[in-house]
Amino acid sequence: MAKSSMQIKVFTGICLWLTLVPLASHLEAKVTKSAFGNMPDGTKVEIFTLEEGALKARIMTYGARLVSLEVPDRTGKVADIVLGYESLAPYLADPKSYFGSIVGRYGNRIAHATFSLDGKAYQLPANDGVNTLHGGIKGFDKLVWQGHEIPRGVELTLVSKDGDQGFPGTLTARVRYTLDAHALKIEYFATSDKDTVLNLTNHSYFNLAGEGQGDILNHLVKIPADRYTPVDSGLIPTGELAPVAGTPLDFHQATAIGARINSDNEQMRLGMGYDHNYVLNGELGVLQEAAVVMEPTTGRILTVETTQPGVQFYSGNFLDGTLHGKHGHVYARRTGFCLETQHFPDTPNHPMFPTSELKPGETYHYITIFKFSTAP
Ligand code: BGC
Repeated sequence: MAKSSMQIKVFTGICLWLTLVPLASHLEAKVTKSAFGNMPDGTKVEIFTLEEGALKARIMTYGARLVSLEVPDRTGKVADIVLGYESLAPYLADPKSYFGSIVGRYGNRIAHATFSLDGKAYQLPANDGVNTLHGGIKGFDKLVWQGHEIPRGVELTLVSKDGDQGFPGTLTARVRYTLDAHALKIEYFATSDKDTVLNLTNHSYFNLAGEGQGDILNHLVKIPADRYTPVDSGLIPTGELAPVAGTPLDFHQATAIGARINSDNEQMRLGMGYDHNYVLNGELGVLQEAAVVMEPTTGRILTVETTQPGVQFYSGNFLDGTLHGKHGHVYARRTGFCLETQHFPDTPNHPMFPTSELKPGETYHYITIFKFSTAP
């Protein structure tokens, strides 16, 4: 190659690099931190704001909760699409909704508040009739995590002592929320110094028309799972993996949440709507699509991907209009839905379900991604 053409190539290369590098760093989500109030004992609660283009997520250290999530609609109009409150006090006063939180140690129910591990029985606090829901009376949703900035997001850490809410082993959990490429990614890590069981998930309630904008019954849902775990009257899995085919739980074809929610079907009656764990078809640990939800009036689409084996589709049946959320919005029945990627409910009492055990030396690691797009 002639010397001059070589020089031109090197020069063009440098120019390109100089333009691309600042562009790339400009596109990377911006992260800021501020105070969000104090716990009754004076512990400070912080809130992290992640911004990437029109997407904006706020995550606080109390319960590692997603407090708000602003997403554009098909016209570019932004709305906050998760239920919650504007300040800390109402979160502290609401023990039951789990708005936006990371639930743990064990997301969803453990039957009769007990399980056995390595031949030893463990007793947990019962906080849902005779069962344990979302980790007990003071689960991870009610604790203050330590937060620090990471590229594109925040990492939250919680150390739960041996015996916390009856669970064995000192457990260190780390959850990373990052915004990248029109998606909110949640990555979970944990280690324990004793054999234990663990099931962490995020408990955000979505309303893709915007929080406070009515019920979610017109949202179209697609869940590519062939099977689900039927429940008994306490919403505890019977142990069966039943086909969704021919039932109102079949979401292979995109269908409105409200279309079959009041069907004369035993599972729909027991759940008082959708409150069921879907058995994802793909391989455990491999990222797969768990659900796609589209809101027709705004065109907002949420796609959920996960490496977990299951997803709980909960249609907000227990919201009853007593909670007054952001901007005074009343959260009536079915005004938000959850897609909680998870191990199956009550797995510690079902040896046939994919195991939720975590042993010393192992690292619990799962990824869930909430992707946003719009339909024309
Ligand atoms: C459960 C519901 C429960 C709700 C509490 C969901 O994860 O599946 O049964 O009532 O959490 O907010």
